[in-house]
Amino acid sequence: MAIPKDIRIDLPPEGIPKRWYNLAADIGQLEPPLNPGTRKPASPEDFEAIFCKEIIRQEGSAERYIDIPEEVRDNLVYLNRPAPLQRAYRLERSLKTPAKIYFKREDMSPLGSHKGNTALAQAYFNAEAGIHTLTTETGAGQWGTALAMVSNLFDIDCTVFMVRGSFEQKPTRKALMRTYGATVHASPSPQTEFGKKVLKEHPETTGSLGIAISEACEMAAKDPNICYSLGSVLNHVMLHQTVIGQETMEQMRIGGIEPDYLIACAGGGSNFGGFAFPMLGEKIQGRTDCQFIAAESKAAPSLTEGEFKYDFGDTAGFTPLLMMYTLGQEFIPKGIHAGGLRYHGMAPLVSAAMDKGLITARAYEQLETFEAGMAFARTEGMVPAPESCHAVKAAIDIALECKEKKEEKTIVFCMSGHGMLDLYGYEQYLDGTMQDSSV
Ligand SMILES: *Cc1c(COP(=O)(O)O)cnc(C)c1O
Repeated sequence: MAIPKDIRIDLPPEGIPKRWYNLAADIGQLEPPLNPGTRKPASPEDFEAIFCKEIIRQEGSAERYIDIPEEVRDNLVYLNRPAPLQRAYRLERSLKTPAKIYFKREDMSPLGSHKGNTALAQAYFNAEAGIHTLTTETGAGQWGTALAMVSNLFDIDCTVFMVRGSFEQKPTRKALMRTYGATVHASPSPQTEFGKKVLKEHPETTGSLGIAISEACEMAAKDPNICYSLGSVLNHVMLHQTVIGQETMEQMRIGGIEPDYLIACAGGGSNFGGFAFPMLGEKIQGRTDCQFIAAESKAAPSLTEGEFKYDFGDTAGFTPLLMMYTLGQEFIPKGIHAGGLRYHGMAPLVSAAMDKGLITARAYEQLETFEAGMAFARTEGMVPAPESCHAVKAAIDIALECKEKKEEKTIVFCMSGHGMLDLYGYEQYLDGTMQDSSV
């Protein structure tokens, strides 16, 4: 048998998109973020203590396209962009489904996930603004790793506040960030006033993402040459990630692929948004009937069980209030391996799309997602990240529905990352010691 043409559709380096697509231009008026003190719409100045001007401009922009600076495009090559679009023939065969399954390979980045796409853009704009250090938080470690690596490309320093529990349990992630030159603190840390306060009250705490965000913001707010960087949720992050969806659309055009379903997992919403928004723009214009599915964890089911309302982005209530699907700022999800899906809220742009009925969501238990990940690894050869296993699970479910109904649909999903640093999760699944993730 000849190698099928659509087994893998590659684009040349020039295929890296020239502009980012902004869904805010097409989705209608968004509810603005609110200042946490006054509860009035936040002004750009409210963000200046922690973000540089260009990032703030992008955050509030309603322009449909924003040019990607030449230097950002040049450096995206180092993240292995453009990423291939691949067909999962062996998975299709094992499922005996008439459906076609394609996946976009964000796992091919040297960082192991899609997160570098926005890290790179954010590091560039901050370096341009004369910022010498970026601070951030990290839970599982993917985001900290991404920011640590790209900081080298623009000669800036990177300080990561890593949730203490992960800091102690995931020494390889810490080693990776330090390899890239980042300074990594276990959070809560004695480096900040807030960290000191928490440590005094709860010396044994394993920390939380909320505390780590507060520490990273405090460090940035205190020094005009230090800015804070966030890896998901905000509009500018969704924007930077749209290179994924634009490349995918070009690859689908080349391969003559007309998708019936676009699927991605959703934690804060950035790989889903980046993958789906360019095509969702087409749907809003009436040019496609494609359905969009966000796959989330039952441990933090913001889209399927949350409320659409104003809520804080962090636990302490320091950040502006965002209009989003949320489980509440104090919601503490169960500890699952898909650390990137343990967030109480959802990106305002993804939330708005959900509220308008443009997308749907499905939530999954931990065990069934690892089962899907195993099936994928054993047929296609690559081991999906625990987060990505949620998208794999949704794709398999739909492929089986197609089999039932004898429908030859086309499913395209986003493989947001690989699981080679999460093998402990696979080990637990194989040993039968893994638990489910229900609330
Ligand atoms: C962080 C992460 C996610 C979840 O974050 P989003 O902002 O929702 O994309 C999903 N997959 C992987 C591999 C991640 O690292």
